Amino acid sequence: MAAGSAIQIPSRLPLLLTQEGVLLPGSTMRTSVDSPRNMQLVRSRLLKGTSLRSTIIGVIPNTSDPTSDCDELPSLHRIGTAALAVQVVGSNWPKPHYTLLVTGLCRFQILQLLKEKPYPVAEVEQLDRLEQFTNQLKSEEELGELSEQFYKYAVQLVEMLDMSVPAVAKLRRLLDNLPREALPDILTSIIRTSNQEKLQILDAVRLEERFKMTIPLLVRQIEGLKLLQKTRKPKQDDDKRVVAIRPNRRINHIPSTVEDEEEEEDHDDVVMLEKKIRTSSMSEQALKVCLKEIKRLKKMPQSMPEYALTRNYLELMVELPWNKSTKDRLEIRAARILLDNDHYAMEKLKKRVLEYLAVRQLKNNLKGPILCFVGPPGVGKTSVGRSIAKTLGREFHRIALGGVCDQSDIRGHRRTYVGSMPGRIINGLKTVGVNNPVFLLDEVDKLGKSLQGDPAAALLEVLDPEQNHSFTDHYLNVAFDLSQVLFIATANTTATIPPALLDRMEIIQVPGYTQEEKIEIAHRHLIPKQLEQHGLTPQQIQIPQVTTLDIITRYTREAGVRSLDRKLGAICRAVAVKVAEGQHKETKPDRAEVGEGEDCKEHVTEDAKPESISDTADLALPPEMPILIDFHALKDILGPPMYEMEVSERLSQPGVAIGLAWTPLGGEIMFVEASRMDGEGQLTLTGQLGDVMKESAHLAISWLRSNAKRYQLTNASGSFDLLDNTDIHLHFPAGAVTKDGPSAGVTIVTCLASLFSGRLVCSDVAMTGEITLRGLVLPVGGIKDKVLAAHRAGLKRIIIPRRNEKDLEEIAVNVRQDLNFVMASCLDEVLNAAFDGGFAVKPRVEHLNSKL
Ligand code: ADP
Repeated sequence: MAAGSAIQIPSRLPLLLTQEGVLLPGSTMRTSVDSPRNMQLVRSRLLKGTSLRSTIIGVIPNTSDPTSDCDELPSLHRIGTAALAVQVVGSNWPKPHYTLLVTGLCRFQILQLLKEKPYPVAEVEQLDRLEQFTNQLKSEEELGELSEQFYKYAVQLVEMLDMSVPAVAKLRRLLDNLPREALPDILTSIIRTSNQEKLQILDAVRLEERFKMTIPLLVRQIEGLKLLQKTRKPKQDDDKRVVAIRPNRRINHIPSTVEDEEEEEDHDDVVMLEKKIRTSSMSEQALKVCLKEIKRLKKMPQSMPEYALTRNYLELMVELPWNKSTKDRLEIRAARILLDNDHYAMEKLKKRVLEYLAVRQLKNNLKGPILCFVGPPGVGKTSVGRSIAKTLGREFHRIALGGVCDQSDIRGHRRTYVGSMPGRIINGLKTVGVNNPVFLLDEVDKLGKSLQGDPAAALLEVLDPEQNHSFTDHYLNVAFDLSQVLFIATANTTATIPPALLDRMEIIQVPGYTQEEKIEIAHRHLIPKQLEQHGLTPQQIQIPQVTTLDIITRYTREAGVRSLDRKLGAICRAVAVKVAEGQHKETKPDRAEVGEGEDCKEHVTEDAKPESISDTADLALPPEMPILIDFHALKDILGPPMYEMEVSERLSQPGVAIGLAWTPLGGEIMFVEASRMDGEGQLTLTGQLGDVMKESAHLAISWLRSNAKRYQLTNASGSFDLLDNTDIHLHFPAGAVTKDGPSAGVTIVTCLASLFSGRLVCSDVAMTGEITLRGLVLPVGGIKDKVLAAHRAGLKRIIIPRRNEKDLEEIAVNVRQDLNFVMASCLDEVLNAAFDGGFAVKPRVEHLNSKL
């Protein structure tokens, strides 16, 4: 070391006894400290000391029995290395210990042990002094030769190593820059040497001796390296040979004896894969890509991460149904029967589906629009899709698109990405294993958009018959023909479907069901299905139609039948428990509760037990079967009814009217409430309304103000100026749901007319319609859903715009018969129909006829 002469170590050094290695000057060593003496040294000397001096310690290799470090100080090796403690790291696991990083400075010799406890301290003499060597000119020549020889070997050794490794290159530079005297110590600690050899080098205080002892170690290392390189070379050749042999073996199919079994196995796999690729019916382009990839795979070492990636890719390519398809067995008559059997009602939808299938039957390659079923949840959209697949004899696969906001979900990730994989379309094809399945793209209206691209745009390519014969998934990177796939989409609303996508699709509205339809669906489809799922038979459980109606009206309020299905499931579960219990014990299940005088018809009781599942079981002989589900049993299982007919209650004061709203979940009835108070003519609107709805409210007020005299409407102080000293507040429940649209116009007018006239709106009237400033009523959408909602809620009279009359045709006859429709073309007609006995107009009846 250049600073060798400058090193002046203290004459008294604390001694660290190392078990694991021998520290030589110029090298660095990490040592673990856990013996009490050493720990004490670290604590009181290294951790507490603040001067540089205190970080210098004497490192003595513990040559005696390493285990006997407990009480007595072992006899110490006389020569050690003074070292600088560079780093101390403490840890408590698995037991308290320190890890010390020490750099050797120079040799020393123990002159006298000064104290043993708590850690040994010795008076020392520094041995490595640079002057000692440089001044001895006499031995220079001899030494020069030795050192030159040593230097040559050192260079030879280092050059045999991989010079591209930065540490090796640095070592090479150090050989030239360091003083020769320092080299033996440094190289000894780098090359492979035993502790014993290192100890000998440490003990070689004389430089000449040190050089002499180190040269054989260097030579040994050089020979070892040479041998290693020799053995490695033939192995590389071997590798090459194996690669060269591979093609031959493929032809001969004779596995030769190779020592490395694993490699052999893997090789077989690759051969198999190649065979599969060649025999698979993939497109020419795909075959070309695959063969290229397999060629690369063969050359790749197995440990390379890319190996697994390429293999996965090739396996997927082989698995994909390039040419595999099911045979269509399309027969329209059978399809009609199957559709009818699977689904009750939904005539319009079934009709359109049959038309679609008929065209398919006549013309094999249908490049028509994609069918998109739009309707509230639980109306059977998915289930019709499944039936279509069944009628065609095709595989069915559902792709849920709700919340998908990354285009690679559709089109896959490029293979350069970590964790890349194909998109949902290709994955779906792999799952079904044929290239002509029915793909149901569920919830296209819930596609998202994000920074990762627009999945709707990717879907465009999938759905476009002009493009999808060469759909390119990013992962595959070759075209796949999707033209044989039958796509069907479903959505709750068309409003959020991207226009370009909507353009590719033919929308078929699937409205909600009437109560009667629901009862039929329940008895024909849902109940048998639930019974089967719960292992029950009709001999064990009976659900009469009145009970189903009760479930529909009191426990569910939905356009579809999903909740109904769930409730039926809950009933079946409860009954299944009873049936299973009954199979084991004859004892009657005891229960008591439910009290208040319900009207139990057949209920004959001794101890005031109303009939319920268990009681029915009690009554029926033999014991339990069939368990009849009546309203009491329903209450037992499902709890108290969730919905009651509240309509009449809420209309018991002026300023309330029932509107009809359309939501993606079906139609709904909506109570519009108004109140007035002293104020400055302000209008307050609450209930999270959109701009259009706010405008409707302003229109309604303006129209009423301008017609106040005609209708004798006054404010609290009797003035015809309705807003004079009056504030109006309009509220639309449910307040948490955002609402918008013009169709509440007539309801707001009616509600305010009721408020200002002090008259009650008829409790069984619901209405919908857009208004104009002149008092015309304009048509609105979603009539069928709205009418069904009104019917569900038990309302009787429905006011709709005259121009919506045609929409009534879509409504089932029995629903129409239950309801009284009032067609209105102007607000006069609306008000007349909304109030019992009409809404008086002061003579001058000037009929407004819509010219629209
Ligand atoms: P959607 O896809 O419209 O949300 P699903 O197709 O999942 O609804 O239907 C929910 C359940 O209701 C399914 O079990 C389905 O069989 C049943 N269902 C819906 N409509 C009918 C119907 N008209 N006839 C028979 N079952 C029906």
